[in-house]
Amino acid sequence: MPVFDPLLKAADLTDEWEGLSFAKLSRNLQQHLTLAGIDDVGTETRYLLAAVFGEDVWQKIANPTQFPQNKRLEELSQLVARRLSREPLSHILGEKGFLTLDLKVNSNVLTPRADTEKLVETALEMTKNQAAGAIIDLGTGSGAVLLAFLSERPNWTGIGVDISAQALEVATHNAKTCDLTDRTSFICSNWNDLPALAYDMLVSNPPYIASDELAALEPEVVQFEPSVALDGGKDGLDAYRCLVAIMQNWLKPQAGFALEIGHTQAKHVTEILRNQSHFADLKIHQDLAGRDRVVSGLYEPK
Ligand code: GLN
Repeated sequence: MPVFDPLLKAADLTDEWEGLSFAKLSRNLQQHLTLAGIDDVGTETRYLLAAVFGEDVWQKIANPTQFPQNKRLEELSQLVARRLSREPLSHILGEKGFLTLDLKVNSNVLTPRADTEKLVETALEMTKNQAAGAIIDLGTGSGAVLLAFLSERPNWTGIGVDISAQALEVATHNAKTCDLTDRTSFICSNWNDLPALAYDMLVSNPPYIASDELAALEPEVVQFEPSVALDGGKDGLDAYRCLVAIMQNWLKPQAGFALEIGHTQAKHVTEILRNQSHFADLKIHQDLAGRDRVVSGLYEPK
């Protein structure tokens, strides 16, 4: 049974693993991940082993006569040492699944969360009777929301806006691998400098964590994800105040919008929206865990 050692190096792991069967290696790996405070160790072990030994590593684990090669153990130890230092699994693997898509991710973008699937579902539901149209995604990051929407709406086009050029490199790569380049464009811009243009749908997953709550998030988030995608200012609501003041610049009359929110922010965000008389039909939508996650509405100019 391994013991917790914050200074553990990749070479220490390979020493420890020498002579272990695949089954014992898998158990040892789970123990190390647990000691490092990681939650879903079964799934993570599977992904890490599969990254080095291939998807069929389970057959090897089930066979007690199978032993890994030392060279492969060295490769695995590099990945595991990174994970034990709490680098996100998505950064180590370089990708993350989001709805039907496999997306490239790195430290320049927020790793897409399962919670954010609700944002895509809401946008799809709101536009289900519009065969064609154009969507704008403000703060697109990896492009996850925009690309997941467009992959379900073959006659729509979309634009992703982000202030980070490095994030847009990732989004552009993802548009290519999802085969969506012909219907997607990206602009590197501040929201305030964006030219006004009328879209049929607007989505955004803006930064919404209160600045002084950031440090309390898991190390994977605090140390490895871009704070520009997370930090919503003093009360976490800065981005909504900014969006709500200028969102009508990009909406056709009767066009919909859907904004991801932190699970305690529904009341505040709807209040900010209600202060503008031209937003109607405000609704709050829950994520899979039953927590408030999205606020939607329509642009109804008077
Ligand atoms: N849901 C993310 C988190 O809690 C935050 C995303 C955001 O600020 N848009 O890590």
